[in-house]
Amino acid sequence: MSIFELFKIGIGPSSSHTVGPMKAAKLFIDGEDNLDIQRLSIRLNGSLCLTGKGHGTDRAVLLGLMGETPERVDEDLYQTIIERVTSQKTLKLGNSQIISFNYDNDIIWDKTFLKEGHPNSLTFTAYDGAGKTIKSETYYSVGGGSILKAPELNDKKDSMLPRDSNSEKKDTVQSNDSIPKLKSPPHVYSTGNDLLDISELHKLSISDIVRENELSTYTSSQIDDKLDVIWNVMKSCVKRGIETEGVLPGGLNVFRRAKDLHNELITNTKINKSTIGMDWLSMYAIAVNEENAAGGRVVTAPTNGAAGVIPSVLHYFDKFEQSLTKEKLSVFFFTAGAVGMLFKENASISGAEMGCQGEVGVASSMAAAGLAALLGGNPEQVECAAEIAMEHHLGMTCDPVKGLVQIPCIERNAMGAIKAVNAAHLALKRTLSYRKVSLDRVIKTMKKTGEDMNRTYKETSLGGLAVHGVEC
Ligand code: SF4
Repeated sequence: MSIFELFKIGIGPSSSHTVGPMKAAKLFIDGEDNLDIQRLSIRLNGSLCLTGKGHGTDRAVLLGLMGETPERVDEDLYQTIIERVTSQKTLKLGNSQIISFNYDNDIIWDKTFLKEGHPNSLTFTAYDGAGKTIKSETYYSVGGGSILKAPELNDKKDSMLPRDSNSEKKDTVQSNDSIPKLKSPPHVYSTGNDLLDISELHKLSISDIVRENELSTYTSSQIDDKLDVIWNVMKSCVKRGIETEGVLPGGLNVFRRAKDLHNELITNTKINKSTIGMDWLSMYAIAVNEENAAGGRVVTAPTNGAAGVIPSVLHYFDKFEQSLTKEKLSVFFFTAGAVGMLFKENASISGAEMGCQGEVGVASSMAAAGLAALLGGNPEQVECAAEIAMEHHLGMTCDPVKGLVQIPCIERNAMGAIKAVNAAHLALKRTLSYRKVSLDRVIKTMKKTGEDMNRTYKETSLGGLAVHGVEC
């Protein structure tokens, strides 16, 4: 898998509930120019039903069927699509066919979780004029905006490793059509220990290993261009976040705070020297996640709900540590990407499977690794930073109030960013002889914790803060 499968341009508020479903809908309709579709139904199962309204899943699937993508969709159209479809009662498909569409009947919200499947599943069914099914496909939105069809999901389950540090190495990662793979990467790794071994053998940093792998598929200038785009989207998102005020959509009456927090910081009126770094980290993360909650354009890093952690840590580094150059940015993204891939391949980055430990926890772990590398950490210290950050997110549940990615999600990103910085600094003071818990062990623990976690705490809004926390 390429790191660009982790860092994608998306639209808020959720990678698994917005970005993934939009991609699935587009995939369903792409290339079907000869199909005489007269009606379409979309069944949203499990978590996509339980929190899909707050997460914009309905908007996403309509736009995907129209041929839109999360990278390019017009933000105004995104905000108004439901009103448009409900008033016109038609939908113009990506293959240019116009069909009648009844929003209330043709989107089926189904609380049941598909057996043996992933908690986020959606099924598109196309019918001809006689009401006969002419195409039907189920997709799973597995986190970070990635989607799989059923056979691919089974492949992924089969390819999961017995993540013991002494386990036999597998020399391939999962095979599937929906997640683009690198072509013959020179360094094949499945675990954190593999990464350390390769690093030792070839005298390469973790960032070098990932860069050499990416070069198997992309040219150097393509990589630089992609990283440029990602960083520019992150910066624009922070900028919009600190310029915008008002109430976030969804009915929870959450006021945007980033602008006020930023104003306080730049006017120095309430500065506390002992918390200044944390204050900036929090403000950057909150700016991004308010934009995400408002349906703005963000980088999934590795998910939308956790999109604020990495931009926050990068902005913090630039402001308080060293100027961010292109080279430093690439070191950060390659290192953070390596860690994100380990979580994605060996566990999951979906809140519906792992709880928030799999989203903000993973983002924090990735950011800690990237920051440790930028601060001069060796590969063992980088691995250690990633481990520390996740160790202290283990067990964190996903319980978004009203199914919106606002409470606790926005502040949670601030906390994830602060923990990432702390983890990186703690790791830089460590040596291998101190290490009691490896990154591989913590990934394994996160996966088991996620599997053991009661379903009400996994992006269903049926437990936790979603039920007990807020006086509306
Ligand atoms: S609680 Fe965490 S995992 Fe759940 S929606 Fe919010 S950010 Fe995502």
